[in-house]
Amino acid sequence: MSKPVKMPEDRQRMKDAEKARKIEVEIRKEKEKGRQEHEKGTYAQLRRDIPASPSIMQRSHSYHNIAQMRDDPDLNVKHETPHYDRTIKPLQKPQRSEVSAARRRNFNPVWGNMGKGITGLKNLGNSCYMNSIIQCINNTTPLALYFWKGAYHEDVNYDNNSTRGEVAEEVAAVVSALWSGQYRSIACRDLKNVVGQHRKQFQGCEQQDSHEFLTILMDWLHEDLNKRSRKSPLKETSNDNLSPADQAWEKFRRCNESLIRSLFYGQQKSTVRCCKCSEESVTFEAFSDLSLPLPSSSNKCSLVECMKLYLNGEKISGWNCPCCKEKRDAIKKFDIWRLPPILVIHLNRFYHDGWWRKRQTYVDFPFNLDMRHFSLVPDQRYVSYKLYGVSNHYGSMEGGHYTAYCKNELYNKWYKFDDHEVSEISNNDIRSGAAYILFYTAISGNSS
Ligand SMILES: [Zn+2]
Repeated sequence: MSKPVKMPEDRQRMKDAEKARKIEVEIRKEKEKGRQEHEKGTYAQLRRDIPASPSIMQRSHSYHNIAQMRDDPDLNVKHETPHYDRTIKPLQKPQRSEVSAARRRNFNPVWGNMGKGITGLKNLGNSCYMNSIIQCINNTTPLALYFWKGAYHEDVNYDNNSTRGEVAEEVAAVVSALWSGQYRSIACRDLKNVVGQHRKQFQGCEQQDSHEFLTILMDWLHEDLNKRSRKSPLKETSNDNLSPADQAWEKFRRCNESLIRSLFYGQQKSTVRCCKCSEESVTFEAFSDLSLPLPSSSNKCSLVECMKLYLNGEKISGWNCPCCKEKRDAIKKFDIWRLPPILVIHLNRFYHDGWWRKRQTYVDFPFNLDMRHFSLVPDQRYVSYKLYGVSNHYGSMEGGHYTAYCKNELYNKWYKFDDHEVSEISNNDIRSGAAYILFYTAISGNSS
């Protein structure tokens, strides 16, 4: 984020200059705060035999941090002497992005270096659905790097009608904070506020569906980062020689160009066939996840079974058959046409039979998923995937809790993210009846 932002419009340049000035002020404040806290910390060390008063306890976060920093051999803080030396810099110079993120957004952090990406998210009142999704997003490596390293700056579209770049900015700030490795946990209240501003449903403290949140978040991120809504759509080229699938994909790409689209979007063929006259209607549509049904008969199944159910098709009624010119029963089925680099699979546990209910089915999903088992057109670029994230839902419709299991690519280990608590988890514990959304990443160079 220290990279200067290049924007063509003067207005944006002025905005950036203004932003830079604000960041400078924040850094000065932060340095001053660090100096003051170091003094306090030294003072506390001198008084360490005296029991802490409640007011000291309240500020234990910063003390804890200072104490840790002093013990960190990487930091050039000399503390053999209890006397405070003003010539010694109290803290390692904070990264600009970290300062601006922490200060502008008030993450209300609990300090403590657990490792990069090993930071919990405080519950802001039933916000576990959001925390679960953010941890999965945060462990989507290309997306996390894009936000963390500031590359997204080039793409943010502050003029779009829906969220004006706000969601992208907030997600970037959260991701940067999570990967800074400074915090045991943070509260992403600003992201939640922005989300609530744009969708009333997420404003309060009610339980929400993490899949619905993911879908909306991805839409917003795509809009915020869509280069095509800023530039004009790509000119339609002559594509008569393209297949209908490729034509549909080209049309989609002409208006949608973002990292979200490149990573998460695939294409499927949707066929509706009249049960009376066999007339077919075929459309090619983009998808950002596959929403798989679960078998109704058993309480244990494999992901392959769910995938087959999804691809087998289902009976729909009241389809307007263009041939019969009447409402007919029909079979609607999907074929996967183009697989994305990041494959998100939603296990559709919730169903309606007068009441909303949840299936607690244990779905046996693989760590290594080979999509070649399913009806695919040949020449797929991505077919082999490995699991890196699971959003879990425990409980029922009435009340439940979300957690996330994510593989940290830096440490090559799985962690359980349960709101503010993060703990290492064994591979054997990843599969459970709570698995709700699965995140797979393509294994590169394995597209034979
Ligand atoms: Zn018909």
